[in-house]
Amino acid sequence: MDEYHKLAKLITYRLTGFRIDALYDQHALWGSFMQVPVTFKAVFLGALASLTCILAVDHLPERRTAIYPAPNLSAHNFVEPTASGQVSWTNEEKLHFQCNMISQEGYSNCGINISLKNDDKNFDLSEYDAIYLKAKLDSPEKWLRLFTDSWLNEYSTTNANAIQIAQALIRATDLTQGVTIDLRRISIPDWWIQRFTDAPIKYTYPHFSETTAIGLVLGAPMELGAHDIKLEEIAFVGRLITVEELYPILLAAWLAAFLLSVLLRFITIQKRLAQERLATQTLSQESEKYKKLSMTDPLTGVLNRNGLEAALSDFYKDLQENEQVTLLVLDLDHFKNINDKCGHDIGDLVLKRTAKTLQNNIRQSDYLARWGGEEFIIAVRNTEATGALILAETLRQRIAALDFAIDPSLKVTISIGITTFSANDEFEQAFKCADDALYQAKHKGRNCAVLGQEITAKKKKLA
Ligand code: GH3
Ligand code: MG
Ligand code: MG
Repeated sequence: MDEYHKLAKLITYRLTGFRIDALYDQHALWGSFMQVPVTFKAVFLGALASLTCILAVDHLPERRTAIYPAPNLSAHNFVEPTASGQVSWTNEEKLHFQCNMISQEGYSNCGINISLKNDDKNFDLSEYDAIYLKAKLDSPEKWLRLFTDSWLNEYSTTNANAIQIAQALIRATDLTQGVTIDLRRISIPDWWIQRFTDAPIKYTYPHFSETTAIGLVLGAPMELGAHDIKLEEIAFVGRLITVEELYPILLAAWLAAFLLSVLLRFITIQKRLAQERLATQTLSQESEKYKKLSMTDPLTGVLNRNGLEAALSDFYKDLQENEQVTLLVLDLDHFKNINDKCGHDIGDLVLKRTAKTLQNNIRQSDYLARWGGEEFIIAVRNTEATGALILAETLRQRIAALDFAIDPSLKVTISIGITTFSANDEFEQAFKCADDALYQAKHKGRNCAVLGQEITAKKKKLA
């Protein structure tokens, strides 16, 4: 048993976050309830509210409409058949009347009829549940009949006299004490059903939505002698809301709450996803920025050695079989002297202008990188030795022609080593060849370009 208790406690805690032990400790109860997730709190409070509504619905105050006493009431008394009886008001305003039956002929009866019409509009009695009646009786009658007259709108088009009569039997003793008659106790008398034989079957049940009058009848047949009736109270009684009306409202409220929570959950998830997407985007932008920074030479803005290595993998992928590529290794001549003579800052400026000049004189598809110090590399696609020599010569001339306004005597020249290679050759081999050619250019006196040996030829020679 103890095990089951423990298990129940564990399951409740895992599902709702609520500690059952808190039920035995008033101080911990509120704290424990506050720890429960909002959804469970809402469900718990909703269930509590629903239960309260269901329990309270029968105890709500009644809706009561007084028919009598009330001003401007239109009432008339009657007696049938008139030959055998008489009826008269003792006090019409107070609905006090007397019947005097002389003989019991046929359905001898006497009563009062109170009109419910207001500005020619009938009364909707179907909005109520019961009728309360109280009257003072001085009569030998043991029973009275409460009746209602209701207008049957649809049936009236085929039958001009389509007033539906419904009635309920009341004990005279109950009436003197005051009695509440449930509308469900009021039924259609047999004689009405037998008279209106063409009435649809639905009219064998009372229809109270257009009630024209309400009244009391004594007799049929009636006890002989004098009967004194004084109405004291008539009221229609209804509930503010019935259980039958409450259930669909509660169901709709739960459904609406459920849909709302789904909608809120959906919006929250969408928001979170958008935030995560934004964070990922920012992160990838940041990482892209740092990647770019790690691949770019900060001084000249061209690729650094790292960047060139990454770019070369794309470069190699794009290369066609047998496509000729040339590699230029460029080195500033006597750069150390420039630094020494003009200072390191001017040296930096020279490096920047040199990189810019080189970049401006190559194609978009070519790669320029600062290999280190005052040494640059250019990889040129689809170019053979002659084309590369022409390009190298152009670059050499452009650099030599650079005018540094700070010091007119400052002249910068470059030496260039060139090699051609293809997709089958390793970059390191090509670089070695171009670097050898650069060494030769330096040896030749600098400010010139030298085309190195072909890699394949060199390989053969080494072999
Ligand atoms: P050579 O014609 O034989 O290449 O002679 P050189 O003076 O150009 O070559 P050397 O290797 O003797 O000197 C290169 C100099 O480049 C040394 C170094 O201080 C300078 N240098 C390298 N990187 C930078 C840089 O970022 N800024 C500046 N201002 N100088 C640099
Ligand atoms: Mg140098
Ligand atoms: Mg150098």
